[in-house]
Amino acid sequence: MRIGIDETHDPARTSWVVSANGHGDFPIQNLPLGVFSPDEGEPRIGAAIGDDILDLRALADEGLMPEATKKALYSRTLNALFALPGDARNDLRKQLSALLSDEAHRRAVTPMLYRAEACVMYLPAVIGDYTDFYVGIHHANNVGRLFRPDNPLLPNYKHVPIGYHGRASSVRPSGVPVIRPRGQRKPPDAENPVYAATERLDYELELGIWIGAGNELGDPIAISEAGRHIAGFCLLNDWSARDFQAWEYQPLGPFLAKNFHSTVSPWVITAEALAPFRTAQPQRTNGDPVPLPYLWNDKDQASGGLGIELSVSLSSAAMRKADLPAFLLGKGPASNMYWTAAQIVTHHASNGCNLQPGDLLGTGTISTPDDSGLGSLLELSRGGSQPVELPNGETRTFLVDGDHVIMKANAKAEGFVSIGFGSCHAEVLPAHT
Ligand code: MN
Repeated sequence: MRIGIDETHDPARTSWVVSANGHGDFPIQNLPLGVFSPDEGEPRIGAAIGDDILDLRALADEGLMPEATKKALYSRTLNALFALPGDARNDLRKQLSALLSDEAHRRAVTPMLYRAEACVMYLPAVIGDYTDFYVGIHHANNVGRLFRPDNPLLPNYKHVPIGYHGRASSVRPSGVPVIRPRGQRKPPDAENPVYAATERLDYELELGIWIGAGNELGDPIAISEAGRHIAGFCLLNDWSARDFQAWEYQPLGPFLAKNFHSTVSPWVITAEALAPFRTAQPQRTNGDPVPLPYLWNDKDQASGGLGIELSVSLSSAAMRKADLPAFLLGKGPASNMYWTAAQIVTHHASNGCNLQPGDLLGTGTISTPDDSGLGSLLELSRGGSQPVELPNGETRTFLVDGDHVIMKANAKAEGFVSIGFGSCHAEVLPAHT
């Protein structure tokens, strides 16, 4: 069952922007939205096409953008565009696809293209609130097992999408270095806690969900309507200080262990671009409970999954010095999410909590059941007890200064052109003294 497929997804469609054809991330079938500035220019909204970025404000100036989106395209963030009905964004997508595929527009549009490598990318939206979930069931199992070997999943896990409110002010776009945080932790053999730099800095491989249209305070979002509130997706690295986390998390959950920095990929892969890659949500087995009716929708179960593969790689300072490529630590599918994006959104608003355009929801770390696609070092190193070996002989239990963590994702489906998310990367800098 494929909903929302149109000519913009046609695998035969190519662009006169030559680098787009066969591009691993940004062929003409993708057209992700973001905020960029060319050399010495001011931030503006753009779309990625091959190795270039198309200036949508310039297109609006020339009267080449749909009227309904024009005002939103003069903003320096995507919030206003996110707030529009999905139909308006779909019209924008169709227009971009037409302009970039039809040779007749080449002469007029070419001056509005910039080389992406010479541009600066910004956060795509002003993020009012950031919430992180925990729907990667194998991650929940792996981490739970470290603490509770006999009972890794708590009794609520299969009934309710578990989440916590994160912090929006410290979300940064890809490329902004993360400063090793200081905080309170209690070394296992010490009697008293200390305030010091974390010794267990970790990454978490997640998808981010960008909220489109919001809901009024007091009005829940029906699961059948949840898709209308999702503008798009990104990659999210939920940096975590495991030693702070272990000491502080009870009884109220994550706090300073996770709010010092979160990294997002700057391009918003729109819900429309992902239409061909919707999949059935894996069936619940082993006597798993049927969720309460407000979280259940047959259509969502049939097409609410995402055919996306995520990966995380590491490049140490020594590896870069030796010109070694980044080392793949894990790769796995988004089908390891126990709850769909629609269930996450619906649950968040189920008490009447109002979501707003530009809110960011993290899925939680997505890991595979085996070792091939673990989404955190906590899992890979078995809680820090089994070092991971890098190709140059270095080992890691947790991240060291100079480490560069790179996340990527690709959506694939038979009969369609694969699209990518671009990169979500950042380097770890030493703690400030
Ligand atoms: Mn997380």
